Amino acid sequence: MDIILLGPPGAGKGTQAQRLVERHGMRQLSTGDMLRAAVKAGSPVGLQAKAVMERGELVSDEIVSALIGEELDALATGQGAIFDGYPRTAAQAKSLDAILAARGRTLAQVIELEVDEDALVARICGRYTCANCGKGYHDTFEQPKVPGTCDKCGSHEFKRRPDDNEDTVRTRMGEYRAKTAPILPIYEARGIVARVDGMADIDNVTAAIEGIIKR
Ligand code: ADP
Ligand code: ADP
Ligand code: ZN
Repeated sequence: MDIILLGPPGAGKGTQAQRLVERHGMRQLSTGDMLRAAVKAGSPVGLQAKAVMERGELVSDEIVSALIGEELDALATGQGAIFDGYPRTAAQAKSLDAILAARGRTLAQVIELEVDEDALVARICGRYTCANCGKGYHDTFEQPKVPGTCDKCGSHEFKRRPDDNEDTVRTRMGEYRAKTAPILPIYEARGIVARVDGMADIDNVTAAIEGIIKR
């Protein structure tokens, strides 16, 4: 089963995707993570994407769709994919249809995390992740159980994204409103969109998503 998690920056896509991975053995396909890995590696894609990401604008459709295709080919047989942060434009939605069809996969569900924009700046400016395993945290909303120690892997090293600042967040929200929100009707027409209250506690959001994918 393949699903898309859709929502503006800070809606909780990554947080919920990590939980689905743990519970259902699905694979999280985050184009943001793939691009950050490319930037870190200094690959040609990374060199092209770095400045665009720092500004909070969207990287080209061709680049991200190619990354998604490669990652899908690396999945185990029968393993479901969670698309996190992709598709983000109408062109990407169209590419995803072709990419899935070519591999005999079908999109089961698009889950939209509905959030109040005013809460997103606080979420994003408090976001950090484990530098070793990538588990996500928040200064206020999701702290490690033992301060300074990752719950999942025990690492003491954490990192913050350079684009998680108030200015860039505003640009990213603008991109979401202008280019990503308009793709919802494509999926609504297919009757596969479900909405979840993304302002609820992290555990309650997970419970709502579980309810949707079980039905
Ligand atoms: P968030 O989930 O917080 O919005 P992401 O990690 O998904 O952030 O994305 C970070 C940045 O990477 C985006 O601002 C954009 O520059 C780039 N990016 C990620 N996914 C895509 C995509 N599907 N299309 C274009 N650009 C993308
Ligand atoms: P996205 O991938 O959509 O950009 P994240 O999952 O990274 O968003 O969440 C952004 C930040 O907000 C993280 O620091 C995360 O711990 C926190 N967060 C996620 N979901 C919630 C929630 N339901 N309530 C409060 N904080 C949340
Ligand atoms: Zn860790």
